[in-house]
Amino acid sequence: MNENVLKVEEGEMLEVEVQEDLLEANKRLAEANKKIFDKHGVKVIDVMGSIGSGKTSLIEEIVKKVKDKYKIAMIAGDVTTRIDADRVSRHGVQTLQINTGKECHLDALMIKKALTKLDLKNLNLIFIENVGNLICPADFPLGAHERLVVVSVTEGPYTIQKHPYIFMDANVIAINKIDLAEAMNINVEELIKDAKKINFNCEVVVTSAKTGEGIEKLIKALKI
Ligand code: MG
Ligand code: ZN
Repeated sequence: MNENVLKVEEGEMLEVEVQEDLLEANKRLAEANKKIFDKHGVKVIDVMGSIGSGKTSLIEEIVKKVKDKYKIAMIAGDVTTRIDADRVSRHGVQTLQINTGKECHLDALMIKKALTKLDLKNLNLIFIENVGNLICPADFPLGAHERLVVVSVTEGPYTIQKHPYIFMDANVIAINKIDLAEAMNINVEELIKDAKKINFNCEVVVTSAKTGEGIEKLIKALKI
């Protein structure tokens, strides 16, 4: 152990109890959200990943391929803008923006409120684009059926190893911008190995929103 590392011990954080209650409450709300989705026969996908990993582009590519089959909505979490929601709404998708302000993740209560603004009876697929962040969205399930984590080769070789929790919670991992792997000198096989080491049961799909590589596989992995 490096002596120059200060490790935060468990229980040391002042608000640890408050935090646990918060996570428990979130979990209950997430379960209630899921019941609402199931009641309306709506499949929901929580899309997580860093800023710039390509979450919106992948959603757009999936939407282009499945929009004749599903009535789709997108809930976009963003700190201040609605750029991503506007990009996806071009494809005829009903979009709802949640501006989280200083919050760096979406939580189940925000989704519960968002649902009152969507016409669930006329929908059967919802994408939730989470706030660009690889840390806390892991702790805040929203009630989605699939949790997709997008990681781009432009984020370097250690992103998966450094953020085990979010990858542990994923059902599907997309290693994106694969067209740039060579230029970035990234060994994709190593990234796949890292993902499988953390989450053996997870589906790992290699994608490029730019070339279309892997989009069909991703659709299959998400069971849509
Ligand atoms: Mg985006
Ligand atoms: Zn956060």
